[in-house]
This record gives sequence, structure tokens and C-alpha cells, in this order.
Amino acid sequence: MTLPVIDLRSDTVTLPTPEMRAAMADAAVGDDVFREDPAVNELQEVIADLLGKEAALFTPSGSMANQIALRTHCQQGDEFICESGCHVFNYEQGAFAQLSGLIPRTVDGKYGVLRLDQVQGLIRPDNEHLARTRLVTLENTHNRGGGKILPMESVKEVCGWAHENGLATHLDGARLFNAVVASKTAAKEWSQYFDTVSVCFSKGLGAPVGSALAGTKEMIAAAHRHRKMFGGGMRQAGIIAAGALFALRHQVDRLAEDHELARQIGSAVAEVPGLTLSPPPETNIVLFDLDMHLGTAAEFSARLEERGVLAMAFGPQQIRAVTHLNVSLAEGPRICDAIAACAEDAVSGRPASHVTSTYG
Ligand SMILES: *Cc1c(COP(=O)(O)O)cnc(C)c1O
Repeated sequence: MTLPVIDLRSDTVTLPTPEMRAAMADAAVGDDVFREDPAVNELQEVIADLLGKEAALFTPSGSMANQIALRTHCQQGDEFICESGCHVFNYEQGAFAQLSGLIPRTVDGKYGVLRLDQVQGLIRPDNEHLARTRLVTLENTHNRGGGKILPMESVKEVCGWAHENGLATHLDGARLFNAVVASKTAAKEWSQYFDTVSVCFSKGLGAPVGSALAGTKEMIAAAHRHRKMFGGGMRQAGIIAAGALFALRHQVDRLAEDHELARQIGSAVAEVPGLTLSPPPETNIVLFDLDMHLGTAAEFSARLEERGVLAMAFGPQQIRAVTHLNVSLAEGPRICDAIAACAEDAVSGRPASHVTSTYG
């Protein structure tokens, strides 16, 4: 008997549960471009309230929510400060340049965390030779930082400094609810330091589609225009908003299980010579580096695949495994055994088959 494949490539692979599908089927809908979709309007109110903001806007994706935020805070030719490993800089095709004519100023953080002393001094003086520094954007939890929860103190300091100096602040909170559950700190506590916050419903929360951007009424009014321009004005979007509402109501607390499974996988990784956690998992992402003697990350992920576990090569020598709704805690031992066995295979020189992975 072949066991089912355990897919840890991303928390975006989660599937809607029968209960979520039922809620979606029952959603009251209307034309959201006319702002007449009851489910979308309800979702926007619920998420604005959770984040302690005046208003929110439903978007098709997290990338669009982030790009709308950048466009809302910045004008063509403006510069924004971000951490070098962040999603906005690395994984959105440089849309800030393509769509809005913006310049990134990247700063290397440790596991995605920026310290105040690293950003102080980066604001360019008012001088016609120079771009205007307008915005700081942070990411929490940090994907390339291995699901790191930003220390509240660093968020407070960096955002406080930004506001004192007239910069806007945006949070890419694609996985903010993982930070909320793991830190037992309300979403509002995290979002209070930011002018705008984006969140994803289609990651660990398990909804099929959708993200949101929250901020002041004025910012969200501007964001509405930008969403339409970027092609994100949707019509009877309540069908998908209902999935997001269901996720917010029923699938937030369970993220703790994903964190527990990630912790177990992390403990197994730490015991294998040649594998190093980068860093030990705090939420639902397990990121680890491979010593050269264990082969490349692409080979290692091919070995894992042979044993029924999918993970992503996240760099030449780095693997990412993400836990989520569709992988139960009961799968822990199988995942941990597969990782140990793949390392043994590599040491014994057994070749890996089908090395096809590309970096995430
Ligand atoms: C997934 C993700 C996004 C948004 O991704 P979409 O695929 O566009 O929804 C944004 N930021 C981070 C940190 C993410 O992990």
C-alpha cells in the first residue's frame, strides 16, 4: 500500500473543508465593484476590526494587497526601506518597479528582523539629486526568516522611528495570524504600529483565495482606486470572501497544531548531523541548511519525494517545509523518519532520482 503524499511545499496548498464549502455556497453575494456584496462587506468589517483599523479592502492575492499598499504610500520615484529577504522585494517580480516606479532600499536582517540602528541614517536628505524615502515595510512572520516572529520591541522601535521621521509603515502580514497564535498577542497589538497591514486568508488559514489590506478610511479609499487599476476589482466575490470569513471564525486557533508539528520536525532535523535549522521553528515554517556532504537541496527534496514527503528547495543548500491544515500531527513521525532516512541515503551515496526542484 502506498501512503498518501505529505505536501509541505507551502501552506498555500490547503483545501477548503466541506463546512467551508457549505458556507461559501450559502454566501449572499452582489457586485463588489458597486460595493454591494454583503459577504465581502462583512469580511472587510471583520478584518478591519480584528486589526484595529478603520477600513479594509478584499484583494485577490497577498501580492496585490502589498503592491496596492506601496502605491498608496508612495509616488513614482520614491524609495521604500525593506528587509532583503522579504516577499515584497523577492517574490513579487519587482512589481513595485514595474507597476509603480519605486526603488527598494534593502537591509539585511537576522532571520528577517531589522534593528533600529540598521535603519537610522537611511532617510535621504531633501536634495534634488536624491530619491525621496517614504516608507518602511516589514514582514511578520518572516518567510525567508524561517517563520520568525518579529520581536515586538524591534517592530515598535523601527515603526516609531519611521513615524517620527515622516515615513509611512506597512506590514506584510501574510502569516500575521501565525504570529498572533504563537505569541498569544492579539492582531491589533501587532498592527497598531503600522499605517497599513496586509493579511492572507489562503495560507495557513485555509481559505481557497484572498487577502486583505487594512488602514485608515482615507488610505483604503485610495487603495480602492489602485485595486481597480491593478485589475483586482471583483464582482460576486462574496463566494470567496465567505471562505475567508469561515477561516477567520473557525481556523485561527488550530494554527497552534501546525506550530507543534513544525516544532517536532525541527527537533528531528536538529538531530541529523549535517542539517542545521535556520532558525529553530517558532511558527509553521521549518527552514534548514544542508552540509555539502548531504548533496544539494534539490537532491534532498527529490529524496524526500521518493519517501512521499514534498518540501521545497529554498536555496542551493536550503530546504523549506511548511506545516498546515491538511497535514495532521499524526504525520509527524513519518515526516521525521523520512528526513533522517534521506540524510542516511545521502551519506551512503545512494543517488537521488528526479532532481527537478527549483528554488522557491
Ligand atoms: C504568500 C505571501 C504573500 C502573498 O502571496 P500571494 O501568492 O500573492 O497571495 C505575501 N507575503 C508573504 C510573506 C507571503 O508568504
